[in-house]
Amino acid sequence: MSIDTATSLTTEQPYAYRRVELVEPDWTRFPGWADVTAEEWASVQWQRAHCVKNVKQLRELLGDLVDDRFYEDLERDQAERATMSMLVPPQMMNTMVPDFEPRGAGSMTEALYADPIRHYMIPVFSDRRTDWPSHPHATRDSLHEHDMWVTEGLTHRYPTKVLAELLPTCPQYCGHCTRMDLVGNSTPVIDKLKFAGKPNDRLKDMLDYLRQNPAVRDVVVSGGDVANMPWPRLEAFLTELLEIENIRDIRLASKALIGLPQHWLQPDLLEGLSRVATTARSRGVSIAMHTHTNHANSVTPLVAQAAGAMLDVGLRDVRNQGVLLNGVNADPHALLDLCFRLLDGAQIMPYYFYMCDMIPFSEHWRVSVADAQRLQHHIMGYLPGYATPRIVCDVPFVGKRWVHQLADYDHEHGISYWTKNYRTSIEATDAEALTRHYEYYDPIHTLPESGQQWWAEHGRLDETALKAAEMAEASRRTAALQAW
Ligand code: SF4
Repeated sequence: MSIDTATSLTTEQPYAYRRVELVEPDWTRFPGWADVTAEEWASVQWQRAHCVKNVKQLRELLGDLVDDRFYEDLERDQAERATMSMLVPPQMMNTMVPDFEPRGAGSMTEALYADPIRHYMIPVFSDRRTDWPSHPHATRDSLHEHDMWVTEGLTHRYPTKVLAELLPTCPQYCGHCTRMDLVGNSTPVIDKLKFAGKPNDRLKDMLDYLRQNPAVRDVVVSGGDVANMPWPRLEAFLTELLEIENIRDIRLASKALIGLPQHWLQPDLLEGLSRVATTARSRGVSIAMHTHTNHANSVTPLVAQAAGAMLDVGLRDVRNQGVLLNGVNADPHALLDLCFRLLDGAQIMPYYFYMCDMIPFSEHWRVSVADAQRLQHHIMGYLPGYATPRIVCDVPFVGKRWVHQLADYDHEHGISYWTKNYRTSIEATDAEALTRHYEYYDPIHTLPESGQQWWAEHGRLDETALKAAEMAEASRRTAALQAW
């Protein structure tokens, strides 16, 4: 249902809640996995070894159920648009077209094109906009996290909170990844930034910074995805973190809980997590897992089992931070379905939905602030208050703001203005940091005709210029890192 039809004049409840039993889709519907056993499916080693990493492997899996047209569309996207390389674990692949029954050659094509999880895990060229594939203000590191690195990979963007990017890889790569500047392998379009420091040195520098800065109490331990860090090294880092008196909150960021739940169900890993949770509890520190899913179809019994295991070993909570994406979840029903599936089926707390950030080639996914406000309105009142997610805009140089918090809004040009109440690590000498207005931009195709015309006259960057700007930014960052 669209945002507009949700308000149509009927006497029906706009959203009718019904509890839904979780189902693990039958992976043998895919020709390439027709003989895969339940034991293999439960094995994290099997899952990692059978990730879909390229068009050839996708063809081997789906065979002629999908037309060449789709594969060619995907190849073109990878050559000309993709900011993330392809990496889809079987668990995640299996949540696409979950009810499909093969009916011969080509029969899966349209269902795959329409699938919400496919939209962000396997983007194709025809998904993207051709009028404005990127917003003129789109940038690789759209949140300027690297500008706020206080040690390599440690972003100090809020007064009491830091983000620790321990590693630049994940078990799965999402097409809309906001850290596309750093995370994953380079693509033909994006040369990735590389960490300059040795991993152990970087972690040590992070811990030293946290020991020396008692105003920081909260660490998001992230990446990438912490599921790609060998557990002994992650446990050692967490144990040292727990020894720092000022650290009171730790959140582990892992989309693998959704994309590769088999990872978090490994017995030795659960034993390790239990040790960490016990230490945290004895010191009065809250430790939780933050995961990332965008559609109800991702929430399967295996995901629920992994989330339950996190609570059983003593993590305080498992929370979901989704991303608001056109073609995936940008309507009230899809958002509420996902929230109820998380809450009822998997005991995962719906926490945030972020507006998709202004990274290159993301315009087809992004929604306007006005639409985000309408969506927030439509999802109020159905979920318990504590589980009603806030839809937030991550405003460059500001941070997360609830979408109703803007200071001003130029609807014609799609520019919203935001303020803030704290300084980031790069604003110590900026007297106007707390009085300035900071801008965020709606997708141009959502604007009225006059606004679109204004951007056509003032904002057009051709693709060569965009590529040149990307390369210049990448060179600047690499030089800055080498000088670290
Ligand atoms: S799991 Fe998170 S960090 Fe990794 S690619 Fe997806 S959005 Fe990016």
